[in-house]
Amino acid sequence: MTAAILMFVGTAGSVLPDVIGRYYGAAVSPDNIAVTALLLNIALIIFGWRRYSALHREIAHHKSAEEQAKTLAVTDPLTGCLNRRAIGEATASLIAQAARRDMTVAYLMLDLDNFKNINDIQGHDAGDKVLVEVARRLKGTMPPNSHVARLGGDEFACTFIFDADFPETVQRVAEDLIEQVSKPIAGPASNGDAELTVTASIGVARADLCDNSLDVLMRRADIAMYASKKHGRNRYCWFDPRMESEVQFRNKIESGMRIGIGRGEFVPFYEQQIDLATGTLIGFEVLARWNSPELGQIAPDIFIPIAEDTGMIGDLSACVIRQAMEDARGWDQSLTISVNISPVQLRDPWLAQKIVKLLVETGFPASRLEIEITESCLFENMGLAQSIIGSLKNQGVRVALDDFGTGYSSLAHLRALPFDRIKIDRSFVTSMNESKESRAIVQTIAMLGASMGLPITAEGIEDGDLIAHLTEIGCAKGQGFHFGQPLSVEQTRRLLADRNLLGLGWAQQQTSAQDEPVIMTEPQLRAARGE
Ligand code: C2E
Ligand code: MG
Ligand code: MG
Repeated sequence: MTAAILMFVGTAGSVLPDVIGRYYGAAVSPDNIAVTALLLNIALIIFGWRRYSALHREIAHHKSAEEQAKTLAVTDPLTGCLNRRAIGEATASLIAQAARRDMTVAYLMLDLDNFKNINDIQGHDAGDKVLVEVARRLKGTMPPNSHVARLGGDEFACTFIFDADFPETVQRVAEDLIEQVSKPIAGPASNGDAELTVTASIGVARADLCDNSLDVLMRRADIAMYASKKHGRNRYCWFDPRMESEVQFRNKIESGMRIGIGRGEFVPFYEQQIDLATGTLIGFEVLARWNSPELGQIAPDIFIPIAEDTGMIGDLSACVIRQAMEDARGWDQSLTISVNISPVQLRDPWLAQKIVKLLVETGFPASRLEIEITESCLFENMGLAQSIIGSLKNQGVRVALDDFGTGYSSLAHLRALPFDRIKIDRSFVTSMNESKESRAIVQTIAMLGASMGLPITAEGIEDGDLIAHLTEIGCAKGQGFHFGQPLSVEQTRRLLADRNLLGLGWAQQQTSAQDEPVIMTEPQLRAARGE
């Protein structure tokens, strides 16, 4: 460009005197022409130079904007790691490089455990700080020839080349990552510099066992990461083909549940609760069962965690509680029902209103309802839990602390919330005969309850011989297989009819059923058939 300008200016300088001379004749002296040409030359040079620098600046500006756009397109703005799109391309290129060097690639999918709690409780500044620091530690821990990406939220991916004969290299890296992430992180000054702690669950897959297919590699690492979560978090798991069938089973359950909730396939079963001193039936714990047309009857241990993960728990719980209230409304008015509320439901600020709405719509008295919550609920958001429980208690609903002894068993929690009762976890009661420790724990919880004025329920009484001892140490109420397995609504009605506890309400319901046609739901039909 500069050369072109100079050439143009030089040519103009030599040709110009000739041209001017031809037009103005001898009146124009050669000296004047030379000066004019020189000035013109200088003007042209300056003009050319300025144009050139402007162009140069424009190009540089475009280039840097382009670079910036490129960087933004491949990086995560918060942490500076690669983003989801870029890690795919980077891993594909590592796989190609590894193949040339007779090596392979490890892909590690990493998800932070309980990160949501930090965001919810400590705020988003603290959450961002954790993400930035975790990213820094991951980058600092990875070996050469590696990439780190943030895929979104609290999900990261790390990938690197390793010698396929030495998978222990990958294990070491995964262990280092777990150790580094779990070290305390200084929180933001706005939170009083309180330290924050997170842990990571990692899933690992290797490209050579996935036919070097990028999609398969990433999916397998993801599946393995969920296995790490399932096996207790803060750990890593290699992908194992058996995990894939577990995922397929889980997907089948999940899609079956989506349809099943609407079809009324989730029904309440009733476990008797007994006054231990008199042996009188005082109520029932409501336990959800899924009558899946395809898979048979499914226990809550399988479907509750899936309902919690997928956000279906609110609808599922509402439909089971509504049915339980409708079933129990007409039973003897002395009989109570206890329903389980999941920790996920306690994150819903409208939970109390939803339960009260069910009470109003079914006409079930609040005084006959008890809700059971576990201690883990309280860690997530104590303020919200207090407000929900406060609202329910104002309506006359009672609240029990379920599975006490398995979690943190914190006195602070017992004092912070107005519980009406503590339920000792069944694992201690069932093992009382064999284990001195279990007996001691049950006794200690009973003493704790007595000192706080809280009645105690012992769950999991399988052996009738324990009843006298439990009564003696102060457990007023009990439940367990000794008194009977959880029953369907029809079995429960038969039991109540035998004991003359079916109540006037049931008789009235029967009479009204003869007066007007009632469209029965699928589960009611099944219950009526005694299935
Ligand atoms: P949980 O609330 O502790 O319920 C008691 C569990 O102990 C029930 O298991 C019951 O069948 C079992 N059980 C009762 N007596 C005995 C006994 O003597 N020995 C033994 N070994 N077990 C006994 P289930 O029905 O399988 O329920 C398991 C858990 O699922 C429940 O534990 C509860 O946490 C949850 N769950 C059940 N229904 C619901 C529901 O509607 N909503 C929510 N959020 N959770 C539910
Ligand atoms: Mg319970
Ligand atoms: Mg329990």
